[in-house]
Amino acid sequence: MNSGADFIVVANRLPVDLERAEDGTQRWKHSPGGLVSALEPFLRSKSGAWVGWPGVPDVDVEEFEDDGLRLIPVTLSAADVRDYYEGFSNATLWPLYHDVVEPPVFDRAWWDSYVKVNHRFAEATAAVASPGATVWVQDYQLQLVPQLLREQRPDLRIGFFLHIPFPPVELFMQLPWRTEIVRGLLGADLVGFHRPGGAQNFLWLARRLVGLEPSRAAVGVRTRPGLIHVGDRPVRVGAFPISIDSAGLDGMARKRDTIQRAQQIRTDLGNPKKILLGVDRLDYTKGIDVRLHALQELLIEGRVDPDEVTMVQLATPSRERVEHYQRMRQGIEQVVSRINGEFGKVGHPVVHYLHQSVDRRELVAFFSAADVMVVTPVRDGMNLVCKEYVACRHDLGGTLVLSEFAGAAAELTSAFLVNPHDLDGVKNALHAALTIDPAEGRRRMRALRRQVLTHDVDRWARSFLEALGSQGLN
Ligand code: UDP
Repeated sequence: MNSGADFIVVANRLPVDLERAEDGTQRWKHSPGGLVSALEPFLRSKSGAWVGWPGVPDVDVEEFEDDGLRLIPVTLSAADVRDYYEGFSNATLWPLYHDVVEPPVFDRAWWDSYVKVNHRFAEATAAVASPGATVWVQDYQLQLVPQLLREQRPDLRIGFFLHIPFPPVELFMQLPWRTEIVRGLLGADLVGFHRPGGAQNFLWLARRLVGLEPSRAAVGVRTRPGLIHVGDRPVRVGAFPISIDSAGLDGMARKRDTIQRAQQIRTDLGNPKKILLGVDRLDYTKGIDVRLHALQELLIEGRVDPDEVTMVQLATPSRERVEHYQRMRQGIEQVVSRINGEFGKVGHPVVHYLHQSVDRRELVAFFSAADVMVVTPVRDGMNLVCKEYVACRHDLGGTLVLSEFAGAAAELTSAFLVNPHDLDGVKNALHAALTIDPAEGRRRMRALRRQVLTHDVDRWARSFLEALGSQGLN
C-alpha cells in the first residue's frame, strides 16, 4: 500500500490491540470505543488511516488493513512504555492536568522519551499523509505532534483534541517543559478542548509563554477570543464537548435480552429496594473513595438501610504499574471491606466490588438495573459513563448523582450535582437520589436524555472537523 491517505487519525493507541497468546501466536482484538465509531464514517468516506501503538511493547508490525481501515502501527520499546507512556504521560501530565490530585513527577529522562516518541508518531504520519491531507491528533500523549508534523509537512491541515481537562494556568506553569508543550500544540490549525475554560487557559498561556519570548518578532502571537496568530498563521482554539453513541446505546438498552439481563442482575443481588452503581477505571481522579465514604457514613447514621440498599462498584483495572494507582487501590479495597465487615450479612455484602473490565452489553444491563448512578470524580475531562447511563434509561427510571468537576456537569444540569470535596453534600445528594419522588425522577431523566440524545459523538466529530475545515475562512 503506497498511496497517501487524505484523512488520518493519530492517537496513542490503534483501534485494535495486539494480543499475544502463550504459544507465541498473535491476533488483533478490536477495542471498540466511542472515538472509533464516531470517526469511522470519516475514515471510510475519504481514504483514511489511523496511526497508533498496538498496545504491546517491542513489536515491529507492518502497516495493514483491518475491515477496510488502514492501520499504521508505531513501535514502542519497553523503555518507551515505561518513560513516555507510564512516566511522562501518566505520572506527569495526567496528575498535572487533573488539578494535581496526586503530585506530578517531573523527570527529565521521561521528558526526553516523550519528545522522542512524539517525533516517531509525527514521522509515521508525515510518511503516510497525501498532499493537503487532514490530520487529527488525539490527546495528551501527543501534544508535540502538531508542531513536529507541521515542520515536516506544512501542507497538512492539522487538528488537535485534548480528551482530558486542560489545567488552570498556575498549575500548568509548574511544568518545566511548559513552553515546548504550548509550542507543540500551536502547530495545529485548530486546538480543541472539552470546556471553554480550558480553551481560555490555553490562549492565555500561548500569549504569555510564546508571545513574551525574545523571538517574538519572528513568532509574534496575537490573540482574540478563539483565535491566535503564530506569525501569519491563524490557530483556532475552541471547546468541543465530546459525547457518546447515544442512539446505539439507547437501542441496546431497549433489547429484550438486555432487559432480561438487567432483571437477572437485580435478582442476583437479592432484589434490593435500591441499587447504587459506580463504573470507573480504577483511577485516583474518579473519586471512588468519596462515594464509599459517603455511603459508609449514611449507613453508620442509619439514613441508609443495608437491607434495602446495595451498591455495585465496577472498577476496571488501570495503569497498575504506576505507584499512585497501587496505593489508591489498597485504600479503596479497605473501605469496601470495612463497609461489608460492618454492615454485610452472609451472602449479602452491601458493596459488590468487581476489579474487572465489563463488556459493553453487560455494562448496558448494569446501567438499566441501577436506581442511582454515582459519578463523583474530583476532576474529569468529560466522563462518558454518566452520559451512557442517561442514554440507557429510555424507561425514564434511574437518578444521576454527578460531580461538578466532571466536564459533563455543564450539560447534565438536571442531575444531582455535587462537590466531591463536600462529604455532607455528597451524602445528602445520595440520600435525595435514593428517596426521590418517581415523578420528579422522570422529569429529571427526561431533561438529561434530551441533552444526551441530541448531542452525540457524531455531532462532536462533525463540529470539530467542520471548524477545522473552515480554517481557510479566517
Ligand atoms: N467501560 C467499559 N467497561 C468497563 C468500564 C468502563 O467498557 O468495565 C467504558 C465506559 O463505557 C466508557 C469508558 O470505558 O465508555 C470510560 O470513559 P470515561 O470518559 O467515563 O472515563 P475514562 O476511563 O476515559 O477516564
